[in-house]
Amino acid sequence: MVADKAADSGNENNDKLDVLKSTQTVVSNALDKLGYPKEVFDLLKEPVRMMTVRIPVRMDDGSIKIFTGYRAQHNDAVGPTKGGVRFHPNVTEKEVKALSIWMSLKAGIVDLPYGGGKGGILCDPREMSFRELEGLSRGYVRAISQIVGPNKDIPAPDVFTNSQIMAWMMDEYSRIDEFNNPGFITGKPLVLGGSHGRESATAKGVTICIDEAAKKKGINIEGARVVIQGFGNAGSFLAKFMYDAGAKVIGISDAQGALHDPEGLDVEYLLDRRDSFGTVTNLFKNTITNEELLELDCDILVPAAIENQITEDNAHNIKASIVVEAANGPTTMEGTRILSERDILLVPDVLASAGGVTVSYFEWVQNNQGYYWSEEEVEEKLHKVMVKGFNTVYNTADTRRIDMRLAAYMVGVRKMAEAARFRGWI
Ligand code: NAD
Repeated sequence: MVADKAADSGNENNDKLDVLKSTQTVVSNALDKLGYPKEVFDLLKEPVRMMTVRIPVRMDDGSIKIFTGYRAQHNDAVGPTKGGVRFHPNVTEKEVKALSIWMSLKAGIVDLPYGGGKGGILCDPREMSFRELEGLSRGYVRAISQIVGPNKDIPAPDVFTNSQIMAWMMDEYSRIDEFNNPGFITGKPLVLGGSHGRESATAKGVTICIDEAAKKKGINIEGARVVIQGFGNAGSFLAKFMYDAGAKVIGISDAQGALHDPEGLDVEYLLDRRDSFGTVTNLFKNTITNEELLELDCDILVPAAIENQITEDNAHNIKASIVVEAANGPTTMEGTRILSERDILLVPDVLASAGGVTVSYFEWVQNNQGYYWSEEEVEEKLHKVMVKGFNTVYNTADTRRIDMRLAAYMVGVRKMAEAARFRGWI
């Protein structure tokens, strides 16, 4: 009996941390609130297409290693699917599926002509050479080439992938296609058709959401105390933008630990010393843990690292007035409920981190038209899109008296549900 109970509570706990299950639950709630029939949920609860591939790579020691990769295409009713490729040892099929659903929602919230896609490869790029990473990137593109393309499914960077990897992938696709095809992938280096502002776009989008949320809460950014979990692409650019705006970045962290200074950290110094994987705390002695970082006394907390960080175990102890999710899935459903009951303004991932896919869309548009925009033009367009997305979600939450996550899902899911209906699918 006791053993059964223990097993049950283990399952219950796994369910709470199951990002696919919790995403499906919120999608279902959003569709119910919008009055759609059950068939719409049945269509949208899983990707329409999910490909698993095996990628052989010759390693530097001469051996052949076989890697497993995935590509999920959630829904292509609105247009081609779009989403990043993640290189990480913990990639799972479920996670890739959930991430593809989030991409659909993001595209809906910021009104892009896309559905969501996502890819992942089980590997540890920190332990691979440049040459091995190139082999893996090219092998992945060969394996998925039949289902991707500039008008089918457009990949981009995500955790532990960067513009160099996008360049190899674009080159491989162009070879298969026998012509230069920059619109196949976004997040490329500028010289290969990348867009100005793409690298910092996610953090820029988060910054715009922080500004809008701070206005609603009556917080002045200048002097506001900000804590950021994660010092990679999203977290490090964000720290810089907040610092430049006059905020006090009092805490940052990476996978090894966290730094705290109530007077404000020297962000420029930390940016200068971080390595390419976003690690910097290993250079310091007086570190605190990531758990302690999340509970620091601050005005604005930004999880910008990994999933399931704010849960029922620590949501009661969060001291920030605003939580803005730069990471995908950092707060569990219970965590969301507790924060919203405590009147903490939670700006959900599908809205807050939509700046990356928005500028990826701008990159694709520029590739398609062969005419490129200045950094100022990109920033101005991004600002408009994010402010509109924020206010649509905020007003939906306000008028319906629901939390911002459910509101964001309602806004995000509506376009693809309507597109599927007009196409006669449901
Ligand atoms: P990244 O790989 O550049 O950086 C990740 C950071 O998180 C690093 O500093 C790493 O040390 C830290 N980290 C890893 N494991 C950790 C742990 N257990 N505890 C604390 N910190 C840990 O990744 P990124 O591109 O900055 O992405 C971060 C998050 O933002 C992810 O959830 C990603 O999906 C999301 N996101 C990123 C983009 C983008 O354009 N980069 C766009 C949308 C969403």
